[in-house]
Amino acid sequence: MKTIAVLGSTGSIGTQTLEVARANGDLKIAALAAGRNVKLLEEQIREFSPRVVAVWEEECAKELRTRVADLEVKIVTGMEGLIEISTLPEVEILVTAIVGMIGIRPTIEAIRAGKDIALANKETLVTAGHIIMPLAKERGVRILPVDSEHSAIFQSLNGEAPERIAKLLITASGGPFRGRTAEQLKEVKVEDALKHPNWAMGQKITIDSATLVNKGLEVMEAKWLFGVELDRIEVVVQPQSVIHSMVEFVDGAIIAELGTPDMKLPIQYALYYPDRRYLGGERLDFAKLGQITFEKPDTEVFLGLPLAYRAAREGGSMPTVFNAANEHAVSRFLQRRIGFTDIYEIITTCMDAHKMIQNPTVDEILATEQATYELIESRW
Ligand code: NDP
Repeated sequence: MKTIAVLGSTGSIGTQTLEVARANGDLKIAALAAGRNVKLLEEQIREFSPRVVAVWEEECAKELRTRVADLEVKIVTGMEGLIEISTLPEVEILVTAIVGMIGIRPTIEAIRAGKDIALANKETLVTAGHIIMPLAKERGVRILPVDSEHSAIFQSLNGEAPERIAKLLITASGGPFRGRTAEQLKEVKVEDALKHPNWAMGQKITIDSATLVNKGLEVMEAKWLFGVELDRIEVVVQPQSVIHSMVEFVDGAIIAELGTPDMKLPIQYALYYPDRRYLGGERLDFAKLGQITFEKPDTEVFLGLPLAYRAAREGGSMPTVFNAANEHAVSRFLQRRIGFTDIYEIITTCMDAHKMIQNPTVDEILATEQATYELIESRW
C-alpha cells in the first residue's frame, strides 16, 4: 500500500486524485491540504481518515476543527502547515495539485525529505525548475508528471535516453476561441472563456487554455522535466484532444499517447508508475472519431504562446514574471475588471518592465512575484 499526501485536495486535480484512490482502494491518504473549502474537506476527512490536514487560514482551521471535533485529526495552517504535511515521515508520494506559486516551498521541502512528487502544479517548474530538477536528481526522487501532455511524453519516452529525443510535440486543443481574429477576441466574455471544448478543469487553467498561456507554461515545464531545449519543443494544435502529446526520436519514429480526455489516467499513472492499472471510462473509438486533424497554433492572435517562449528564452526570473502577471490578470478577468486581451497586455508590460535576475533563489522568485503584483495593482 502506497502512502500519499494531496495538496489542493478540494480542487479539480485533487478531487480526481481521491477518486483514483477510492477506485483502487490501496492508497493510504496520510494528509490533505486545501484553501477554503472546509465543507468538502470535512467530507474528505471522514472518508479517507488522514492524520494531518492543512488549511491556509486560521479562521478556516477553527471552523474545520469544530466540524471534525469527533475525529482524531491534526489541523495545521499556513506555509508551515503545508510543509509539515509535505514532509510527513510516512508519505511516499506528494501530489502537488495546489494552484499557484504557493506550491514551490512545500515541493522543495518534500524533495529534500526524499518524497516522490506527482506534479500537477505547473508554477513550480515554470518558476523554480532550475532549483527543483537538480535537487530531485541529487536526492534521487522522481518527478512524476500529472499534466496530461507531460504524462503523454513520459509514457511515450518510457525510459528512452534524452539524447534519443529529436523533438517533443505538445498537442493543444486550441481552446474555445480557435479560429477567431484578434478583434473578435477583444469582445469575448468570461462565460465563453470558461467553456473548454474537451477538458473539465479548474477556472484559472481553463482561462489559460483559452489564451494559450497554459500551452506556454507547458512548454516551459517540459523543458525542465525532460531536459530538452526550447527550439526542440513544438506545439501542434489538434482540436479533438485525443493525442495527448508525442515524442519524435532521432530515427524519425514518433511515439504518441492517445485516449479519451480524462485526467484520472495521468493521475493514476503517476501514482502507480511504472505499473498500469485498470481505469474505467470511455475508450477511444477510431471509427466513431473518423479523423484527427492538425493545425499550427495562431501565434499572431493567441499571444500566450510567443510570450511564454520569450520568457523561457530570457530565462532567470522572467518566467516568474510571465506566470505572476498572468495569474493576476486572469483573476481580474474572472472578476470582469479587464477584457480578455488585456491579459496579454498586462503580461507584456510586466515583462518589459522587469530587470531579470539570473538563477533566482526561492526568495528572489517570491519577491519577483510580489513586485509583479504591485506593478499590476498600481496600473490596472
Ligand atoms: P483548482 O482551482 O480546481 O484547485 C486548486 C486547489 O488548490 C484547491 O484545492 C484549493 O483549495 C487549493 N488551494 C488554493 N490556495 C490554497 C492555499 N493557499 N493553501 C492550500 N490550498 C490552496 O485547480 P486545478 O485542480 O485545476 O489545478 C491545480 C494545479 O494543477 C494548477 O497548477 C494547474 O495548472 C495544474 N493542472 C491542472 C489540470 C486540470 O485538469 N485541472 C491539468 C494539469 C495541471 P480551496 O478550493 O479549498 O480553496
